[in-house]
Amino acid sequence: MADTAWIKKHGKTAQGKTEYVTYLETGEKLSPGKAIKAHCYQCMNSYLDGRHDCQMSDCPLYPFMPYRKGKTMVKRARSEKQMEHDRKLSILRSGANKTMCASK
Ligand code: SF4
Repeated sequence: MADTAWIKKHGKTAQGKTEYVTYLETGEKLSPGKAIKAHCYQCMNSYLDGRHDCQMSDCPLYPFMPYRKGKTMVKRARSEKQMEHDRKLSILRSGANKTMCASK
């Protein structure tokens, strides 16, 4: 078990620190994004050498590494079903549905 007191005191303030400490102290299940940040925080030894790119392009988590250089957000393609859901949600949120219901 890692010493969270040491991490809190000496670990650099960086993405993944809070998630890593929370996980160690509570065992709380993290979201995939938080788990990746926490894992990179651990892998980078609490970023003691600074918050920089690990440059480990053969690591499966590298595309999500918080400090990867040239990081660009890759949006997932949305299916037609998802887009239809978004359209319906947008209509509901805009209140158009209330107007349609009130006119009945
Ligand atoms: S992306 Fe880099 S820092 Fe993150 S787990 Fe892989 S090797 Fe470690």
